[in-house]
Amino acid sequence: MTDKDQSGNPKFKTHETLAKYDMNNIAISTICSHSALQIFHGAKQEGFRTIGITKSEVKEFYDAFPNASADEYIIVSDYREILKPAFQNNLVKENAIIIPHGSFVEYVGADAIQQVLYVPLFGNKTSLKWESNRDRLGQWIQASGLRFPKEYSSTEEIEGLAIAKLGGAKGGKGYFLVSKGKKVSKDYTLQEYVVGVRYYPHFFYTPLSRTGLAAGEGSIELLSIDKRIESNIDEIYRLGMTRNELTEYGIIPSFVVTGNMPVVVREALLPKLMTMGRRIVESSLKLFYPGIVGPFCLETICTPSLEFVTFEISARIVAGTNLYPIGSPYSPYIYDEPMSMGRRIASELRLAIKKNMLEKIVS
Ligand code: AMP
Repeated sequence: MTDKDQSGNPKFKTHETLAKYDMNNIAISTICSHSALQIFHGAKQEGFRTIGITKSEVKEFYDAFPNASADEYIIVSDYREILKPAFQNNLVKENAIIIPHGSFVEYVGADAIQQVLYVPLFGNKTSLKWESNRDRLGQWIQASGLRFPKEYSSTEEIEGLAIAKLGGAKGGKGYFLVSKGKKVSKDYTLQEYVVGVRYYPHFFYTPLSRTGLAAGEGSIELLSIDKRIESNIDEIYRLGMTRNELTEYGIIPSFVVTGNMPVVVREALLPKLMTMGRRIVESSLKLFYPGIVGPFCLETICTPSLEFVTFEISARIVAGTNLYPIGSPYSPYIYDEPMSMGRRIASELRLAIKKNMLEKIVS
């Protein structure tokens, strides 16, 4: 990617940094959290060195998974230390390429990643900015022609049930259900509560090959799908209580993500879902070229009329892919070897190194 494409900040010269890298000794690096086991496991399968960035008390838990632990660790007391020039220079000396995941973006910050981080990063930094801003996210989903839930500027406008979301809230924390007229602080986004079944398809967009469904300058691969498990909403039914009874006992529905479950969709729905992935890629190329490079996930709800409503995009690897370290119900239809999303990232880097095209997938 050119310097201007990646951040608009001419100070970053990713191609100059990459030009100094020893392509036979590249290391894959990330923060030990979120999907790091899968990222390291996949990197090792593709023959890369791995560097874990971690807090001292976390390291032993990664070493407890020898096939997925990092070869080397850099211990920090605060993840923002990653931004310090001395730290970054050290990673550059190691020929490191960072793989961003949800916790990496959360701990380091999408703005800082774009403005301060100069260690080469897999994917397009600008897509991380788009996923972290609610207004831009809505714009992107709508520009792709996907159905996005209605949003209300006040609770007076609500028809039926709505969900109140805090900007920047992660993993559903702080979300609550809201009905017409209820008093809610202006800090919340009010969104139509879509009733249906949730599906979170995991896509990989490669501008380097045409293995999957043609999209943008390359293709997308549907590697897997998950569904999140949220507390307490997903098990509140066990109480068998009405809404009024729950309120009487002071039980309030909440949406905090605690884990993930594997799912597949009816095969007849695959064309719909994959077309949505393709459109998200194609609009991203127009909105922030070279678009959403690498893994991404759509957060969708399938209604009883089999329509998918998309309420969020994750523009990097999602934790739901942790279900599939040795492949998914879909990956064997694309790859003969067990292919996790972590390994897919590493294999894309391998291919780009071979074709001398790293700049196309790294920013
Ligand atoms: P998020 O933080 O956007 O991933 O949302 C966390 C959870 O809130 C989702 O997994 C859903 O269970 C729920 N949720 C978010 N937006 C909606 C919506 N518009 N309709 C129904 N449920 C939603």
